[in-house]
Amino acid sequence: MKRAQNVPFLRQRLREKKLKNFNGLKDLTKLPFTTKKDIADSFPFSALAVPLSSVVRVHTSSGTTSKPITTFYTNGDLRTWSELMARGLACAGAARGDIFQNTTSQGLFTGGLGLIQGAERLGLTVIPLGSANAEKQLEVMRDFGVTIFHAIPSFAIRMIEAFEGQPGLRESLKIRIGVLGAEPWTKAMRGKIEDCLGIEAFNNYGLAEMGGPGVAIECSAKSGLHVWEDHFIAEVIDPKTGETLGEEEEGELVLTPLSREAMPLLRYRTGDVTRIVDGPCDCGRSHRRIDWFTGRLDDMIKVRGIGVYPSNIERIVASHRESNGNFLIELTGIDDIAVKLEVSNGFSKDQATMERLRVEIFEQIKDSTLLRTNVVVLPQGSLPRSEGKAKRVLDMRRLV
Ligand SMILES: [Zn+2]
Repeated sequence: MKRAQNVPFLRQRLREKKLKNFNGLKDLTKLPFTTKKDIADSFPFSALAVPLSSVVRVHTSSGTTSKPITTFYTNGDLRTWSELMARGLACAGAARGDIFQNTTSQGLFTGGLGLIQGAERLGLTVIPLGSANAEKQLEVMRDFGVTIFHAIPSFAIRMIEAFEGQPGLRESLKIRIGVLGAEPWTKAMRGKIEDCLGIEAFNNYGLAEMGGPGVAIECSAKSGLHVWEDHFIAEVIDPKTGETLGEEEEGELVLTPLSREAMPLLRYRTGDVTRIVDGPCDCGRSHRRIDWFTGRLDDMIKVRGIGVYPSNIERIVASHRESNGNFLIELTGIDDIAVKLEVSNGFSKDQATMERLRVEIFEQIKDSTLLRTNVVVLPQGSLPRSEGKAKRVLDMRRLV
């Protein structure tokens, strides 16, 4: 709160609220919300609570808006971040002796250097390969006997394709844990990744606005992501009214960082839709858990007046063992929606299976969203692959 008052827009907002007394956590809901727009409007340096000379690192989000979300770190922030990432990796089962490979960009993106620092802090042997194609990643994994890797989920799907194309490849690798995040994915896709890669995969969560990954991660119980509540206060609110919801009620995740020095925020609206999981975790940790996200408020697409989350479509697609997890939602014409998906290599020539899949997925999407979609089942490799985060929605409606 004290630190937040050093940020002009937060000071202004607190003044507008005319808070006389503030009694800690109890009064949390009296504090104003902050949003992505507040940070975007502060570009480049207006969200700082310290002089720029105290800032030792800058990262940005990989957002698609015109200006990226910028995030700043003091030396203290970097130390905290490394601690939290080390804690998260340990939570996912990493330990000294493990060999860790980072497969994501190691530049401005928070997920690269953040994971590397945490892995070093934990005492893992780090291979900072960064972004490279699947072939190169797998070659390096084999050369160094990598046991843990960090990736975005769509990269893990690319690994599945590589495994299918090269018998014996899996046996030549020692990978046992994948720490995956920075992209929407689902439990169904996790199941597919674990089965096809023969690893344990853990959902890792963070956002540039909170300093990057290191906010929440799954433990061995895999029953939600533990939020590191000694550094972040988590609330779930009704996105329409702003009211705080109870445990198990689904709404928008709101986070307040407690230890960030360079860029404190109050009640930041993440746009991520989840619920707080009730009750203790089997692993014994007391940090409360959030469930996997069911969507992002700003990712929701409207088709014929109906709101659809791409993650909902993904859950349906990934629940079929014949699919390889790749899919694309195409919006064309006035309001036409097509869902294109690929089957894995083994089914690419099996017309009967592809037709059965088409009908089943059509029915499932209709039951779940009430929308009649044009489902197109394609052989492996038909859909375009994007470097970095997978593009799941192609909206060409504005082009006509
Ligand atoms: Zn746990």
